[in-house]
Amino acid sequence: MSERPRVFVSRVVDFDLLASLEQVAEVRHNAADQALPRAALLEAVRDADALLCGPDRVDAALLAAAPSLRMVANCSVGYDNIDLAACTARGVWASNTPGVLTETTADMAFALLLAAARQLGPARDAARDGAWREFYYRGWLGRDLHGATLGIAGLGRIGTAIARRAHGFGMRILYHNRTPNVAAEAETGACWVSKDALLRTSDFLVLVMPLSPSTRGFIGAAELEAMKRDAVLVNIARGPVVDTASLTAALQARRIFGAALDVTDPEPLPADHPLYRLDNCFIAPHLGSATLRTRREMFRMAIDNIRAALRDELPPNCLNPDARRVGGGA
Ligand code: NAP
Repeated sequence: MSERPRVFVSRVVDFDLLASLEQVAEVRHNAADQALPRAALLEAVRDADALLCGPDRVDAALLAAAPSLRMVANCSVGYDNIDLAACTARGVWASNTPGVLTETTADMAFALLLAAARQLGPARDAARDGAWREFYYRGWLGRDLHGATLGIAGLGRIGTAIARRAHGFGMRILYHNRTPNVAAEAETGACWVSKDALLRTSDFLVLVMPLSPSTRGFIGAAELEAMKRDAVLVNIARGPVVDTASLTAALQARRIFGAALDVTDPEPLPADHPLYRLDNCFIAPHLGSATLRTRREMFRMAIDNIRAALRDELPPNCLNPDARRVGGGA
């Protein structure tokens, strides 16, 4: 390539790391830590060779607006925001950031498990609002993690890291994947069960699978009905894996003990959503990978993928290696 390639960065994690990209490309970026309006994003990618993006929607319309684009580096492991087939058809490589956020996200899953199990949300509110006046024997009684059965829906990288922690907590570990994960079973003692058995026997159920047609609505009214009455549901996957209306109804009716959500559908929920008013629902603003070190590593990884693509080398975390062949690119 004769002139310097152009890269648009839709979200910046670290400006020092951005400088490393500027060594090899002409970089433009969105300096605000908020998504660009769609029209502004389409305008920004008009002459871009590569896009480093956050949860922006990368679909056929964006690709059509960016005729020079050959690389999309997503700064997250989940890539449900990217139409991979459309990228492949257009000869555009796409990449994600697997692995570097695994342990951090597993930590957050445990933060959510403990918050919901021990009612930390309403208890903290009571302490702050003056409703805590003395020691109570029957106030904010929770559920024990130790000795309980943890169900993991999606025993992949993060699910295995959660299972490792659960082992230390003295939990019995069940899981459901479409394909048994024999290596993780050997490492953590987790046992494969059917989805139905997972729902019926888990005291705590953690969802940690990608959002895909096969996982959208994985938990709906029927699944909530099948769960134990004192079960706790944690969603650290993607919001649409759970049907929000069904969960709201189940929590309002105290059909299960509680839920803790790192992700919601829609995301964020409107401020007046009934889930925010329920003391048995703990909601975090999508914090799974949110530590300084991990977010930097994710950004570094996305940059490394772009740098490789700009050298016409297969990006290390490429999701569609065939794209250049299928789409007829370089
Ligand atoms: P991974 O290693 O690919 O693991 C995903 C697991 O989900 C696999 O074991 C897979 O097994 C299972 N799975 C996929 N479809 C399934 C289905 N229909 N039924 C049952 N199991 C299914 O991915 P990871 O790195 O652990 O990340 C998992 C997801 O967590 C990401 O895709 C992302 O959406 C989410 N995440 C969220 C945050 C956050 O901030 N909240 C942070 C990181 C990741 P089979 O293919 O055998 O079914």
